Amino acid sequence: MTADVIVVGSANADLVVKVDRRPGAGETVLGGDPDVLPGGKGANTAVAAAKLGARVALLGAVGTDGHADVVLGSLRAAGVGTDLVRRVDAPTGIAYITITPDGENSIVVSPGANARVAPSDVDSSVLGPMLVGARLMALSLEIPLPVAECAAAVAAEAGVRVVLNLSPVARISGATLSTVDPLVVNEHEAGWLLGKGEEVDPRRLLELGVRSAVVTLGARGAALSTMDSPDEVTHVEAPTVTPVDTTGAGDAFTGALLAELAAGADLRAAVEQAVRVAAISVTRPGAQPSYPTREEL
Ligand code: ADP
Repeated sequence: MTADVIVVGSANADLVVKVDRRPGAGETVLGGDPDVLPGGKGANTAVAAAKLGARVALLGAVGTDGHADVVLGSLRAAGVGTDLVRRVDAPTGIAYITITPDGENSIVVSPGANARVAPSDVDSSVLGPMLVGARLMALSLEIPLPVAECAAAVAAEAGVRVVLNLSPVARISGATLSTVDPLVVNEHEAGWLLGKGEEVDPRRLLELGVRSAVVTLGARGAALSTMDSPDEVTHVEAPTVTPVDTTGAGDAFTGALLAELAAGADLRAAVEQAVRVAAISVTRPGAQPSYPTREEL
């Protein structure tokens, strides 16, 4: 398959339990029935973009266990190319998720197979043929940092635009940041990058060397700045909704952003659509199952 968007990232099984409140240290609380749902930042982003009509392929790794079937089944149902998802001798990644009645989640990720993705999986001999005709590469960090850095370099060399969702947040090289357009982070991640007590401002993120920056602001939508007008901030309001489950909202946002950029939208229009899509995703349970199709929009 020729893909417009290559996503290099994680695929997990989300093990989800609803709880009245989170347990403290040393405490046990009883929750509802467990759900096993497809997740992982890479797979979520790929599915969100594909549901909106983009041609997407995922590069990543799963194990040989039953959770791999949950993950691969959802990718394929959404039309995401899985030829570059390797089966490795390790458990499929798992996210242990608790959800409270306000729709907020707490997550522990056990990377499993995702930690086995190696820079050799994304060198130019593997990625090069995939990048011919591709418009965008999307990266997130539930895979080893050197893999993301290597993939960004190969994409930049091929003239493919790099979108980096720096989540979970980590120190990343200036060389990689110089390939990024846009950097996408939530408020916590932006605060970590900018230093404690600093106002979360996408203009400040441009100082890291990226060509554009988007900060997601939860119920307040998102803000963006680009090097074309580095003194300006554009704020995009979120529609008012009642959240049921915010799991994967950031990935819905990034996936929709990718789909719009791949279709030729400018960054502002892409953020406007991403805010709409992410708002719908928080009104429904799960990550991937909550993402809307283009027809629904
Ligand atoms: P993350 O999911 O990474 O923590 P955010 O909480 O910023 O990131 O959410 C990502 C996006 O999801 C926001 O920019 C917004 O578009 C949408 N979103 C999240 N929570 C809500 C909400 N309560 N109401 C409407 N939209 C929301």
